[in-house]
Amino acid sequence: MIADVHANVQALDAAVSALRRIGVDAFACAGDLVGYGPQPNECVEAVRALDAVTVAGNHDLIALGALSEDRCERLARESLRWTRAALDATTRDYLARLPRRAELPGGVVLAHGSLEDPQEYVLSVHDAAGQLARLAEADPEAQLLVVGHTHRPLACDEYAAAPRLGRRARIALDGGRRWLLNPGAVGQSREARLRARFMLLDLDRREVTFHAVRYDVRRTRALLREAGLPARSVHLAPWRPKAFLRPAIRAGRRLQAGVRGE
Ligand code: ZN
Repeated sequence: MIADVHANVQALDAAVSALRRIGVDAFACAGDLVGYGPQPNECVEAVRALDAVTVAGNHDLIALGALSEDRCERLARESLRWTRAALDATTRDYLARLPRRAELPGGVVLAHGSLEDPQEYVLSVHDAAGQLARLAEADPEAQLLVVGHTHRPLACDEYAAAPRLGRRARIALDGGRRWLLNPGAVGQSREARLRARFMLLDLDRREVTFHAVRYDVRRTRALLREAGLPARSVHLAPWRPKAFLRPAIRAGRRLQAGVRGE
C-alpha cells in the first residue's frame, strides 16, 4: 500500500524495492501520484507498470484541471502549475481515468482524502471513527478503509482507538472491527526525518506493518533544482522551535507544572 508519491521517483523506487524484497501479491496506491516533485510522468509510468489499483488524489485532479486549486497553499499551487505544463498526453490520460474510490478484494476500500472528498483530511481519531461509521453504512461488507492525503501514518479502529506507530509498527487488525489505515507519504515526508513511507497489508494474518525507508534524496533535490522547484517540495518538516527559544519553552513548562503542583 502506497500513497502520496508526489512525482518523487527515487522515493517510489525505494518503497517498491523494499516491498518486492518482502514479497507482495499486489500493489495499491491511494492517490497523489503527481504534484510537488520533479518527475510526474516517470512516476505515473512506474505506478502504471506495477498494475496497482489506484485512486485519484487532489493533486492529480488539480493537475488535470478537474478540481480547483483554491484550497491549496502556495507551494502546492506553484508546483501544480509546473506539473500541469509538464504532464504528457499518456500521463494525463491515465490520471483522467482514475476513480475517486476503489474496492479491493478482502473488504478493502481505497480513497485519497475521505470516502467522499479527496481534499478532506482524516487527521484525528474522531475523524477516522466518523469515516468508519460512514463506511459501515455505505458498504457493510467492507472492513478496512485505506486513505492518504495527510502524509501521516495512521491506524485507527471504529471505536477511535489508535495504537502508537513507531518506525516499524505491526498492528493486528482485530476481526469484527473496522479499521482506517494511512500508510504515510512515499514522496513528501512531513515528519522530522525524511523517509519514504509505505505499509504492508497481510489479509490472511489480518495485520498491517508500517515501514519507512531512506532514499536517494540528493538525486531528488538535484532534479528539483533542474526543474526550478524548491528543495522543500519533498520534505515539509514539522515546525520546531528555534534553538535559542528552547530553554525559555522548557522554563515555561516547568513553571506550568509547578502551578499544577506536579
Ligand atoms: Zn498528498
